[in-house]
Amino acid sequence: MSEQSCIFCSIIKGDIPSAKVYEDEHVYAFLDLSQVTKGHTLLIPKKHEQDIFHLEPETASRLFQAAPVVAKALDRAFVPAGLNVLNNNKEAAGQSVFHYHLHLIPRYDQSDGFQPTWVEHGGDYSQEELQQLAAEAASYI
Ligand code: AMP
Ligand code: ZN
Repeated sequence: MSEQSCIFCSIIKGDIPSAKVYEDEHVYAFLDLSQVTKGHTLLIPKKHEQDIFHLEPETASRLFQAAPVVAKALDRAFVPAGLNVLNNNKEAAGQSVFHYHLHLIPRYDQSDGFQPTWVEHGGDYSQEELQQLAAEAASYI
């Protein structure tokens, strides 16, 4: 998806309306239309970068500096019991808008609308296999 056809770039430019929560020189935060829970917010860099595989260090730094600022505002405004930060990368992982974004999802209780599924497979790996997997990943850094 190019910058020209990107819905989030249009939101930053003001061509598409949004419910703005925060803005500075580098980032923009606005309510997600889906409001999975009350206050569900998207935090995006103003620079169009597709996903975590394309995110430049400077962009990541600006974005993650703003994340606690916005999270604390949501916490004070809506007094949730907790908050999930979620980021989907590529279609296979559920990404539908290809401009990097963090979902900030205030959590109220187990039936508040957000249902993360998390199946544990730790028992499938020996300590040695875990060391091998880690070494494989580390070899690419
Ligand atoms: P993802 O599926 O992780 O790429 O998330 C994209 C999110 O963008 C979805 O949760 C949508 O509800 C949200 N979204 C799409 N268009 C808009 C819009 N115009 N204003 C606010 N949120 C939007
Ligand atoms: Zn964009």
